[in-house]
Amino acid sequence: MEVSFSDEVRMLRCGNGETFHGEGILAITKALLQSGVAYVGGYQGAPVSHLLDVLVQAKDYLTELGVHVEACANEASAAAMLGASIHYPLRGAVTWKSIVGTNVAADALSNLASPGVTGGALVVVGEDYGEGASVIQERTYAYALKSSLVLLDPRPDLAHMVRTVEHAFALSEASNMPAVLQLRIRACHVRGTFETRDNVPPAMSTRHLRAEPAAFDYAKLAHPPVTYRQEKLKSDARIPAARRYIALHALNERAGGDAHGIGFVVQGGLYNSLVRALQQFGLADALGDPAVGVLVLNVVYPLVPDELAAFCRGKRAVLVLEEGQPEFIEQELLATLRRAGVSTAIAGKGALPMAGEYTVETIARGVAAFVGEHAPDVPVADGVAWLAATTARRDAVAAALAQPLPARPPQFCIGCPERPVFAALKLVQQDIGPLHIAADIGCHSFATFEPFSMGHSILGYGMSLASRAGVSPMLERRTLAVMGDGGFWHNGLLTGVQSALFNGDDAVLVILKNGYTSATGTQEIISTPADDTRDSAADKSESRVHENQVIEQTLQGIGVEWLRTVDSYDVTKMRATFDDAFTTGIKGLKVIIAEGECQLERQRRVRPWRTRALAERRRLVRVKYGVDEDTCSGDHSCIRLSGCPTLSVKASSDPLRVDPVATVLEGCVGCGLCGENAHAATLCPSFYRAEVIQNPDWRDRFVARVRGAVIGLFRRV
Ligand code: SF4
Ligand code: SF4
Repeated sequence: MEVSFSDEVRMLRCGNGETFHGEGILAITKALLQSGVAYVGGYQGAPVSHLLDVLVQAKDYLTELGVHVEACANEASAAAMLGASIHYPLRGAVTWKSIVGTNVAADALSNLASPGVTGGALVVVGEDYGEGASVIQERTYAYALKSSLVLLDPRPDLAHMVRTVEHAFALSEASNMPAVLQLRIRACHVRGTFETRDNVPPAMSTRHLRAEPAAFDYAKLAHPPVTYRQEKLKSDARIPAARRYIALHALNERAGGDAHGIGFVVQGGLYNSLVRALQQFGLADALGDPAVGVLVLNVVYPLVPDELAAFCRGKRAVLVLEEGQPEFIEQELLATLRRAGVSTAIAGKGALPMAGEYTVETIARGVAAFVGEHAPDVPVADGVAWLAATTARRDAVAAALAQPLPARPPQFCIGCPERPVFAALKLVQQDIGPLHIAADIGCHSFATFEPFSMGHSILGYGMSLASRAGVSPMLERRTLAVMGDGGFWHNGLLTGVQSALFNGDDAVLVILKNGYTSATGTQEIISTPADDTRDSAADKSESRVHENQVIEQTLQGIGVEWLRTVDSYDVTKMRATFDDAFTTGIKGLKVIIAEGECQLERQRRVRPWRTRALAERRRLVRVKYGVDEDTCSGDHSCIRLSGCPTLSVKASSDPLRVDPVATVLEGCVGCGLCGENAHAATLCPSFYRAEVIQNPDWRDRFVARVRGAVIGLFRRV
């Protein structure tokens, strides 16, 4: 990965009494080291990628501390890594994106939670829920319930989040339950400061090795018959121990006063939004102190019945703020109050929506509905007016626009090597007919948007080939599965390729080999070319993914016989290869490897090299594409075939032409797709390829003078 986190790594070294400035997710990373963590792992994914990225780059410092860091192959391997804390007094932390990552990790998590842990085990999950989320909308809460995991949801304040991490390890050790810390997108990116403490080198570590392994203990295996006892332990010992720790250390907070006899029970992660909403109603002051009672659940599982009952007792009504469905907290609160004989009215879903993110506006509407029903004497006119003004402002903007703004779906980057593959796929379907295309997770899923609109299903990361297994036998034409190299290593090799080979499936798989898990932040994978190829590739300004043949060798090793590697940008060859794969009489799995380095990563690598070369006054040649507007026919089929954001339209300078012509904007990185498409699809010959030469030598100047003279001659005749 070419992104440098050197500033963040420096922050990790802060000691007693220093001030940390930065984002929530980095504060969590620092908190792990302050807590004496001995090993760290995980699988990247928004919004927690930075945690692992920073620790991987801080490997030298972690080695000094004796902390082991591992970039895991997937979330299952990260969860299994926590097995170290079953027998040994080792604090361990892993991270991934939820809910998808938790699904992948579920088996290992169950088998970890059943025997329980000795050392504190913490999973930091990016709870990718709500507006801007990039995965299916489910919550991690159900996993905490079914496997008996402590689930923390800290109030988004850096000092508080750090304190929560430190307690999470101790809580996990006190209860033997693995803990999960869920961080919403906003909590990961909230900025702030906190006073740091010295990092704590773990007692048992890579610097202080233990002489002997732990003794055999059948009770610590997730294996019948001990699993029956382990289930009893969860309810009889572990959950009660966790509740005692939570109450003793006041992990859940009581905020605000007792005005109006109403209260709010809120997940910690939603606290800031609740306060902002209450401010609109005059129910919280400018400093964020509520006038009404608020119970902040920084630990959302297990809940502490006595705390809930004590908070609600004597109030006329309480509103529960819990995102998503089903309403676990609300149901448990209702049952708890019934058992405790507390008759306080409880509102939740109904006043607030069942699904979707609780933004400030959504919460404010819920507060207005709640107060209107349960405390009509509370003045809410200010809040209602604020909501009306917000609606009016939105309506006014909509009315001012002649028509709704066009949707702006995410796009491949400029010059992305995956775009030409889908252009070729578009062309080949003109020849052989429409295909069933099993899509996957990764940048290539942008092909589900226009101008490609390809993909029938997405069943998970690396699952495309497996997801067409029931379709292939039912269709006359072969099916296609699209997979990235990240997905291939994450899951696709076993769930897809191995299964297809074992069953003798007749299908086509295209693997987009761009060298990284690009969609999650261009982290490196086993098929990323080694560092020692980096400089030479930069000098040549060439793609360097061909340097690494691990995917090809792996496929050959497990028996793939029909295997082709094609340059992603060579649309003509890619089209012919697809054509061959779909029409050949050879049965079985056919794999096409589309090879082209992630353009984002390539530009990060090449730009500093170019800057250096320019400073040293070395000759540099940059390729750009352009459109000759006199030749442009104006049908824009080039745009429909490419979708590159730098291939656009402009008004023609010819006053007799009313339709816009195609044009290439300044950001073109010269990937060559425009020229390739023009040839492969026999488009109008309006594209030209130009070389921009910086620091030209005497030959360049000589050639330019000759050309200038010849062109001048033609102009005169
Ligand atoms: S990050 Fe890389 S692979 Fe992903 S869209 Fe951009 S260039 Fe393509
Ligand atoms: S050559 Fe065409 S497709 Fe490639 S970056 Fe330039 S405009 Fe985009």
